[in-house]
Amino acid sequence: MSTFNGCLASQLITAPAVQSRVAFRPVATARLNSSAPNSPPSLIRKEPVFAAPAPIIHPLLKEDMGKDSYEEAIAELQKLLSEKGELGPKAAAKIDEITAELKTADGAAAISASVERLKTGFIQFKREKYEKNPALYGELAKGQSPTYMVFACSDSRVCPSHVLDLQPGEAFVVRNIANMVPAYDKTKYSGVGSALEYGVLHLKVQEIVVIGHSACGGIKGLMSFACDGSSGTDFIEDWVKICLPAKSKVLADANGTPFGDQCALCEKEAVNVSLGNLLSYPFVRQGLVNKTLALKGGYYDFIKGTFELWSLDFGISPSLSV
Ligand SMILES: [Zn+2]
Repeated sequence: MSTFNGCLASQLITAPAVQSRVAFRPVATARLNSSAPNSPPSLIRKEPVFAAPAPIIHPLLKEDMGKDSYEEAIAELQKLLSEKGELGPKAAAKIDEITAELKTADGAAAISASVERLKTGFIQFKREKYEKNPALYGELAKGQSPTYMVFACSDSRVCPSHVLDLQPGEAFVVRNIANMVPAYDKTKYSGVGSALEYGVLHLKVQEIVVIGHSACGGIKGLMSFACDGSSGTDFIEDWVKICLPAKSKVLADANGTPFGDQCALCEKEAVNVSLGNLLSYPFVRQGLVNKTLALKGGYYDFIKGTFELWSLDFGISPSLSV
């Protein structure tokens, strides 16, 4: 671990190593959710489960033809089409119609399963956490006063609330590709800038923690791209170039080491670049000078089951006079 214009006090925390086929097919009708049978279930008594704009159209599911029946019908039509040339356009249109219906049926089944997962998850949360902590959620209903502002990667494996057991109200979180903080710039990256401004000036967080992680796809992209605009991505290359200084440092310090090792080094160096970029925000600097704000770097290795935390000590040296 190298330093970034400051003293990095590293601390390693080591954790112990730790269908059947759906036969429902939609029919070509829909029903507004004001109709009783397909309304969302009332998971919270007398309250809507999901705040969704009404009206919502729910496809009706109905046990109908099996997939084999559709395929058989398509095969029959194709046979007819080949035998009766004059029926071509009509039969082709019918095939398109049936094929589209088949695709819709598969999609509807998938959507239903994913929505069901969200409902189940919310029921679990409501029953086991929300209803068992009325004091906490009562306070949170009045407002938030989080201690931490966390920058974490969007990677589905590294949710900081989950990994660090942060409870609702504890952390104001920004997640993006490779947990990067760009330098202060009022012409772009306003999503990050506005979150920082709100977190520091309005919520008055006490700690900003930038957390990198193992096997980060965004960092792998940074290390892989030529960074000359040739990656073919619409946004990713331009975004990860925020931490180009980290790549340069790794290539200078670890040239010739395996690519995977370089990526792992860059995952940590990129955190340091982001910590440095935080210093470009005037209100962050002011918080550090006033000692109302502290900056920390973190690294979660989900392969080894470890979490590393280090500090960026920021101070002003007394002026020298000769
Ligand atoms: Zn990542």
